[in-house]
Amino acid sequence: MLKIDNLHASIAGKDILKGLTLHVKPGEVHAIMGPNGAGKSTLGNILAGRDGYEVTAGSVEFDGRPLLELDPEERAAAGVFLAFQYPVEIPGVNNTYFLRSALNAQRKARGEEELDSMQFLKLVREKLSVLHLDDRLLHRGVNEGFSGGEKKRNEIFQLAVLEPRLAILDETDSGLDIDALRHVADGVNALRAPDRAFLVITHYQRLLDYIRPDHVHVLADGRIVESGGPELALQLEEHGYAWIADRVAPEA
Ligand code: ADP
Ligand code: MG
Ligand code: MG
Repeated sequence: MLKIDNLHASIAGKDILKGLTLHVKPGEVHAIMGPNGAGKSTLGNILAGRDGYEVTAGSVEFDGRPLLELDPEERAAAGVFLAFQYPVEIPGVNNTYFLRSALNAQRKARGEEELDSMQFLKLVREKLSVLHLDDRLLHRGVNEGFSGGEKKRNEIFQLAVLEPRLAILDETDSGLDIDALRHVADGVNALRAPDRAFLVITHYQRLLDYIRPDHVHVLADGRIVESGGPELALQLEEHGYAWIADRVAPEA
């Protein structure tokens, strides 16, 4: 589904990704771990098509299409979803309205029929129930005055409604207490599906106690320097990232 090969990218002339290769199949959950500044958010942002990054080498294929040639809206329509590390607030814009617009823009781009408000409401009810959420968040402005936990729940709710093929969660666990963390993890687990893959980016292992990944990768200095199963996350928890530092090959 996702084939990233030898990806090199820079920000403001500074090399950040230095030959990153990662292949993801449908249905899989991959955790991307790594020290601060390794390039984890850069990877997510590049996949989603955010501005400010220059890809200098390598390729990204998504469902057989050259992802980097698509604009951000086309990527979203193709099923790429990025949940932000710091979700934006859009005061005054009703959360439900915002989400219906986003969904319909994607459906339209795919040549699918747009949902009217009744159909959308039905979808929303269904997703709220899958995630065991109540509807309090729906009627407020997008993330307006939401607590950290509420923002993350809202991200998971957005994910549920947009039904992406590839969901990228960037530090969805940062700043969450244990209850909120479990809630997010339960949501992700409920949304796992054979045709959907997840990239779960996290600095800490604790989220992975609840979202059990199929594969764990360590991103350090712009490359994947180690890959393994869930046990790799536990080793990192125990030994820290210094343990992996000697595996980072010198820059070519
Ligand atoms: P991570 O998410 O792994 O902590 P990031 O991808 O956010 O790492 O950042 C990787 C590197 O890129 C860091 O050294 C960071 O300082 C640098 N960086 C990120 N964004 C910018 C930017 N807008 N301008 C310059 N440098 C940046
Ligand atoms: Mg960081
Ligand atoms: Mg980051």
